[in-house]
Amino acid sequence: MKDAITMDLKAEAANILTSLGLDAAILDAGTMASFSPVNGQQIASLAADDAASTAAAIDRADAAYRAWRDVPAPRRGELVRLLGDELRQHKAALGRLVSIEAGKIESEGLGEVQEMIDICDFATGLSRQLYGLTIATERPGHRMMETWHPLGVVGVISAFNFPVAVWSWNTALALVCGNSVVWKPSEKTPLTALACQAILDRALARFGDAPENLSQVLIGAADVGAALVESKKVPLISATGSTRMGRIVGPKVAERFGRSILELGGNNAGVVCASADLDMALRAVAFGAMGTAGQRCTTTRRLFVHESVYDALVPRLIQAYDSVTIGNPLTTKALVGPLVDKQAFDAMESALEAAKEAGGTVHGGGRYDAGEPDAYYARPALVEMPDQCGPVTEETFAPILYVMKFSDFDQMLEAHNAVGAGLSSAIFTTDLREMETFLSSRGSDCGIANVNIGTSGAEIGGAFGGEKETGGGRESGSDAWKGYMRRATNTVNYSRDLPLAQGVVFDI
Ligand code: NAD
Repeated sequence: MKDAITMDLKAEAANILTSLGLDAAILDAGTMASFSPVNGQQIASLAADDAASTAAAIDRADAAYRAWRDVPAPRRGELVRLLGDELRQHKAALGRLVSIEAGKIESEGLGEVQEMIDICDFATGLSRQLYGLTIATERPGHRMMETWHPLGVVGVISAFNFPVAVWSWNTALALVCGNSVVWKPSEKTPLTALACQAILDRALARFGDAPENLSQVLIGAADVGAALVESKKVPLISATGSTRMGRIVGPKVAERFGRSILELGGNNAGVVCASADLDMALRAVAFGAMGTAGQRCTTTRRLFVHESVYDALVPRLIQAYDSVTIGNPLTTKALVGPLVDKQAFDAMESALEAAKEAGGTVHGGGRYDAGEPDAYYARPALVEMPDQCGPVTEETFAPILYVMKFSDFDQMLEAHNAVGAGLSSAIFTTDLREMETFLSSRGSDCGIANVNIGTSGAEIGGAFGGEKETGGGRESGSDAWKGYMRRATNTVNYSRDLPLAQGVVFDI
């Protein structure tokens, strides 16, 4: 066992929160324990919300929305611009807190905050572009158009693995669209949520005249999320997390005719064709599969390799798995940090066992001694599978890459699409026909389909989300903002007649 490096992460988290204007006493205000995956240390015992405080927060948010919807959208954009400005100033502190609480390596913690800054820039511009169409009408002296209005309170539920970016994707858009936000972060990452709220509060103070409670944080586990989901006063629930969670949340929101944006699990595949640039594919797959210790919704979990390049690529990949650096993200420059907790490690072990039973050959895997006995560092695993069976068809939220050989492109496409999730996909090829087929209607069935880029690391400019068991929601760029607004079609008659549509006659 390596010597444990003594780190007081609770003290460091307290310092970061204090630097943002929070009182460090909140870290000991209750009984909801939170741990750092970096060394397993308990870093907080927070006061949790309950059904009553959730209902009160929703009422406050509803009042905030009623005032905020009257503020012109470009002025609302100014608040989001200020949020981006504050995030720039506190990027290092928030990125560090992401590393402490989610175990991300330094560049990924900072990258997550950069993503927040990027979406603020996007949303600020968007605040002047909430366009509706003007539509040709069949009636003389009439004008038809559509207008977009705010929805109300947006409930955001987020996962541990993107503890801050997901909030910003939702909140930056929700705010410029004229909504208020109530956020229930993962119970595994509450401190980064409190930090985000503190950063937004700074932007609000500079903004001046925004209504109070425009965005609030609820601390708690699934029960608090469920109270948000069940409230008829929350017209939109944007929920990010496992497909298991979405199966519960989706029907509950639908039952009350609410709207949901579901961003659920992924089982993302890369395809390496005979003509691929193998150096490029190697790097992209290594990052996609091992980055963030396999804990991204877009992590590469399956790899289809053409038989003609299998022996040229797979041994090199195994070598990359052998040599990748694993370790404490706060004290080393390792590329792979810890798994979030013991449960995640156990799930990885079970999946590897099941893969062996299904005929797989496992390279790597097992616990890694990073000198932190109370934390769960794992060796990433590459598993050569005879075909797509056993655990390959399910998402295991850990660094496992299942590699399969293919010879026929169409059969490979069938297998590619034959899993429940439909989030991200990537093809490595220099063959135009393969590329275009993969991107066509009979190609990848995922919300994200890339060429010569890995499955993970999306930019904020595009709409983000996936099909099938990934939930069908879209967040972030493109026209995802429409999910946060309601559309009205308006017809104006400026003539002196009353012609009816479709030539209907109704003279009285
Ligand atoms: P999780 O489903 O365990 O929890 C996610 C959130 O849902 C948490 O805040 C949790 O408290 C809440 N929740 C759980 N059950 C609930 C219920 N019944 N009602 C209301 N809220 C409930 O997920 P996790 O372990 O935090 O995150 C990992 C999962 O999230 C993976 O499956 C990953 O693929 C997925 N994910 C998806 C995306 C995406 O954009 N598609 C992004 C990040 C993570």
